[in-house]
Amino acid sequence: MEKLIQIQLTNENNTYNDLSIQVEELTHQLNEANEIIEAIRKGEVDAIIVKNEEKHEVYTLQSADKAYRIFIEKMNEGALTLNKDGLIIYSNSSFANLVNMPLENVIGFNFINFIPDAYRNSVAELMETAWKKQESKGEIVFDGKIKMVPVLLSMNMLEIDGGIALSVIATDITLQKETQQHKKALEKKDEFISIASHELKTPVTSIKGYVQLLRYNFQQDGNTTAADLLTKVDVQINKLTNLIGDLLDVKKIENGQLQYHEEAFDFNILVNEVIEETERVLKKHPIVATLSESKTILGDRNKIGQVITNLLENASKYSEAGSVINVESSVKDNNRISLSVKDKGIGIPKNQLNKIFERFFRVSSEKENTYSGLGLGLYISAEIIKRHNGIIGVESEEGNGSTFYFELPVYNKQEKENASKG
Ligand code: ADP
Repeated sequence: MEKLIQIQLTNENNTYNDLSIQVEELTHQLNEANEIIEAIRKGEVDAIIVKNEEKHEVYTLQSADKAYRIFIEKMNEGALTLNKDGLIIYSNSSFANLVNMPLENVIGFNFINFIPDAYRNSVAELMETAWKKQESKGEIVFDGKIKMVPVLLSMNMLEIDGGIALSVIATDITLQKETQQHKKALEKKDEFISIASHELKTPVTSIKGYVQLLRYNFQQDGNTTAADLLTKVDVQINKLTNLIGDLLDVKKIENGQLQYHEEAFDFNILVNEVIEETERVLKKHPIVATLSESKTILGDRNKIGQVITNLLENASKYSEAGSVINVESSVKDNNRISLSVKDKGIGIPKNQLNKIFERFFRVSSEKENTYSGLGLGLYISAEIIKRHNGIIGVESEEGNGSTFYFELPVYNKQEKENASKG
């Protein structure tokens, strides 16, 4: 069976007649193609010859069959065919691996033998449903080589050569299950945090009030020792308040309720203010700032300040006392300003760099418990920068310090006014 299909539609001077002839020719070819397909379906054709420019290529239907077989052999899913009695008449090697058996001990045996006792009833039901209703699906757990493997079984009834069989596809769903569990754990964590942070906020605020009152009274009475101690208590309460603030922020971010108060402000003034404030608290690290010309930013001044504080606090927390923290800024193309915070601290392993801005993510290492924290600061910072149409990032090497940076658009009043007029 050989057919060369040639169509010429490019001639611009086609007359109505030419076109009619071509339509007739195409209709004829279409009918012929339909006949071929029908013949293939009925098994009347063994091979198709396709003629291309240089040579003929022969596609036998057996070779098409072979391609499918290789495909099924190579796929990660276990693939089986069962006969009416549940005997395995075909299995790919993925299924044999899944049940931890050599292939020759799988084919010819009853499928139910490979199902752990606890799931035999449900698999028997799945098979019954598939025989009755053409298809069925269910999850079971196989006893794999190293660990238990959760698997989705998908069964379909097939008609082959007048007989019937059941095809079974077994998909390993370990990854989906882990993701689901991870998601559930995060939801539980969120729920706990939401309740805890709410419940903590009010008592901590009133403790802070009482401490300040007491300190004032001691100062008035000239008891400086007690007043100084209460100042220390106040510093700790501030840490607690910030933590609660972070937890509440996370909840608001998740619900899309974090409020932003937009104003135009001078970037360098803010950076210097934050550095001064942070230096007062983090006495152990000199901060060296090299700032470029200043620019105006349109955004939430407090929240951008919160980001800078967080980067400075981390730089201090994850590096040795006495080491310098460098803060640098630069302006790009007159329309972006960037700030970097560089420390000489412990650095971050390459394989964890891309997760650093995720919620609750903390770098895992042997020293994990040396540093306290919740893994929320960078997540919140990234959210704030994103909301200001900026970018945030990090360059770091384990043991060799880190440089965190962010970039924000510069506020161009003229442009903004023109845009709102236009
Ligand atoms: P926290 O510091 O409270 O754990 P963050 O979200 O601020 O939370 O930081 C997430 C993680 O990123 C930290 O636990 C730490 O492992 C790592 N990290 C952040 N900043 C630095 C830094 N400057 N140097 C080394 N590791 C850092």
